[in-house]
Amino acid sequence: PRTAPPAVVGAGALIPLADGTRTDYANFDYAASAPCLEAVRGALDEALPLYASVHRGAGYLSQVSTAAYERARRAVARFTGVRDDDAVVFVRGTTDALNLLARALPEGCTVVVSSAEHHANLLPWQHAGSRAARVVRLPLPASPRQAVEDARAALRAAPDGPKLLCVTAASNVTGEIWPVRDLVEAAHAEGARVAVDAAQYVPHRRFDLADSGADYVAYSGHKLYAPFGAGVLAGRTDWLRDAAPYLAGGGATGNVTEDDVRWNDLPARHEAGSPNVLGAVALAAACDALTEAGQEALHEREELLLRRLRAGLAAIPGVHDLSLWEPDHPRVGIVSFVVDGVPAGLLAAALSAEHGIGVRDGLFCAHLLTRRLLPAGHDQAVRASLGLGTTEEHVDRLLSAVARIAEHGPALEYRDDAGRLVP
Ligand code: PMP
Repeated sequence: PRTAPPAVVGAGALIPLADGTRTDYANFDYAASAPCLEAVRGALDEALPLYASVHRGAGYLSQVSTAAYERARRAVARFTGVRDDDAVVFVRGTTDALNLLARALPEGCTVVVSSAEHHANLLPWQHAGSRAARVVRLPLPASPRQAVEDARAALRAAPDGPKLLCVTAASNVTGEIWPVRDLVEAAHAEGARVAVDAAQYVPHRRFDLADSGADYVAYSGHKLYAPFGAGVLAGRTDWLRDAAPYLAGGGATGNVTEDDVRWNDLPARHEAGSPNVLGAVALAAACDALTEAGQEALHEREELLLRRLRAGLAAIPGVHDLSLWEPDHPRVGIVSFVVDGVPAGLLAAALSAEHGIGVRDGLFCAHLLTRRLLPAGHDQAVRASLGLGTTEEHVDRLLSAVARIAEHGPALEYRDDAGRLVP
């Protein structure tokens, strides 16, 4: 890779292996949560001494914090390519953002969503508090084109009234990139809006809300090299402004009398409670650092590592990767796979204890999609996801470890929490 990526906190730290030796941690779990950038740590170091309640106090530090919070909002707005009249609401993460949007839907709204979605974009629409009048769940599409045609048909068949299509920009299981622009075009032609779950997309590629044409976008700071607890919902103001505040409480209120409450306008309307100023500052620092490093260059670097990983896995007998569409369909740096004869939990445990490699195993909070993609004889998969700290050495270590385990099985025995031997 030609471009040195921004440094992540903890890169190179040594961890213990089962044989008593130590190695640097080969983190292949960026899709769950990414480590912080050094630039984020720097921004937090600066913000911590000057940290006080936002929007509440006249004191100097409160003013500094309030300014930092609103500066963070502007940085996030730039990073996300929001339109001038869009709102940027700070939330806890993507799950929070999509639950907020589900509660802000207008009367009679039809929501169309694919079975391929992460649970965070599958379930809020039909959960308690959702204002969706109906939810149409589409089957897994055989191709990107089919995804567009299925969405178009469902939106066309929906009763008159507001409609919302909810779609992921990149799958957290396969990394496959969804045809957001085509979906937006089809949805808008049917009078529908589009909400994009960009949780897995923004850490890998630039997402520009205005350019995509989508109406809303949601993502999480902790997958974008910032700490937990801050995320973004950005998009059209009218539904959000007309909706009851997501949470009732201070900050969302303009005036409260014995018999009435006047709620604030956006974005404060949906940010009740003391704002997470450090979360916002950290998220904004991550956005700025990625922009400065050049998201296109980072993407090119990752593409080389991803190709190396996918080609290497394809060459190992008994390894199958999970894909919904054609193998050459564009994807972000996420690969889920299974190894014949080795249960995913055992494979993940052996990769960690014997090779210092961190992957995720299971169904990845996308049960409908993952179960459909698993080859016969498998009930879970392993997911390897790449990020800014991933090196060629890590990829090669993962490939040789998988090859060895596929051929010989794990070197050690592993027990589950109850002390039972993992098969
Ligand atoms: N959507 C996708 C595609 C995800 O991968 C995730 C996180 N696994 C979420 C939504 C939920 O994000 P969070 O847990 O930060 O709310």
